[in-house]
Amino acid sequence: MSFVSLQLSDPVLRSVTAKGYTEPTPIQAEAIPLLLNGRDVIGSAQTGTGKTAAFALPILTKLQGHQRDTRALILEPTRELALQVEAAFKTYAQFTDLRVAVLYGGVGYGLQLDALKKGVDVIIATPGRLLDHVQRGGCRLNHVQYLVLDEADRMLDMGFLPDVRRIIDKCPKARQTALFSATIPPQIETLIQWTMTNPQTIEIGRRQSPAETVKHVIYPVAEVQKMPLLLALLDHVHYQSVIVFCRTRRRADDAARLLKQNQHSVAVLHSDRTQKEREKALEGFREGRYEVLVATDIAARGLDIQDVSHVINLDVPLHPEDYVHRIGRTGRAAATGDAFTIMVAEDGPQVFDIERFINQKIPRERLAGFDYQYTALFDAEKTAQPNVRPSGVKAVRVRGGYFFSPGKGGRKRR
Ligand code: AMP
Repeated sequence: MSFVSLQLSDPVLRSVTAKGYTEPTPIQAEAIPLLLNGRDVIGSAQTGTGKTAAFALPILTKLQGHQRDTRALILEPTRELALQVEAAFKTYAQFTDLRVAVLYGGVGYGLQLDALKKGVDVIIATPGRLLDHVQRGGCRLNHVQYLVLDEADRMLDMGFLPDVRRIIDKCPKARQTALFSATIPPQIETLIQWTMTNPQTIEIGRRQSPAETVKHVIYPVAEVQKMPLLLALLDHVHYQSVIVFCRTRRRADDAARLLKQNQHSVAVLHSDRTQKEREKALEGFREGRYEVLVATDIAARGLDIQDVSHVINLDVPLHPEDYVHRIGRTGRAAATGDAFTIMVAEDGPQVFDIERFINQKIPRERLAGFDYQYTALFDAEKTAQPNVRPSGVKAVRVRGGYFFSPGKGGRKRR
């Protein structure tokens, strides 16, 4: 199938060609005709599937030319996603006269108000800031014809559903709605019933299924050796870019500090950072200035980060869905990626839940050359490898544990 057969408008088609896309991805092939035909659509697709263009291209086609009133509204759970989707909309709208604005919290109102005053066709927003603008009279939603609820399950996790409902209440009832969500928990099901009309569901790939190109491995270790094992893993793998996921902001800061001390170039992404810092971290990581991004789950969903060769879970995520979202950062666009999870004895129940959720047993491995301390987890292992320390390796003490780092420049690249 080609984009030409999809009946997109000429300027939108031009932008697709300029972007170098040769054929629609499966979700685009399914969603674009439905949205162009005016259907409500529920999309569940793995991240990195081209979901943004799947709704942006038909909406931009239908909007045709600039008008004063805002006719399309895209709700996103995080500022990072809002910025990413804004960039995509601006690219796809580059040959039209349509105006796109992004509204998110944590920054001043001035620039956003200026943009709104000029009249924008498309608003991409996080719920809280959008409501602020609506309540202050800076923006009106009474002409919205196209509404997209992106990453709806994430909005639920972040407690945004009441705001989302308030926003939907301010939009006209006669509108077209699209909802994208990796999972459909009961609250989202209720939202769907309340807000959508006869929606068509598109499922690309098995729902809740982690990217199939990813090789998963669990590394059991004693609690005190988590950080040393992280360093050793980084020294052993041939990585291009890696995201290290942590459960808490503090943990992320600690890990980042340790990695920096060990000559890794590191950016940190969590919600205690200012908006500027978060943008800088993401931009630097995307551009390859940082090899390692240490992040809490805020970065796990939806963000379009290309070429992540490895994901390392320094902490097992509490919710199985977060495991799927975390590893969705690697193996995108069918590149193979590796997902490593560092596991301590207390993580047993969570790991069991993850394995049940993804319906596969994740192999346990031991890193050759790492000087393991005993953990009860090893008793469960059938295939323990010899505990050898390679020559030319020195012992370093970190936070009460020891690890052995290669004498010089152990990092290898592809
Ligand atoms: P998304 O799932 O929307 O975050 O998109 C993931 C990545 O795929 C983005 O970098 C898009 O630019 C890219 N992309 C979207 N559609 C296509 C396509 N039809 N062909 C090639 N790349 C695409």
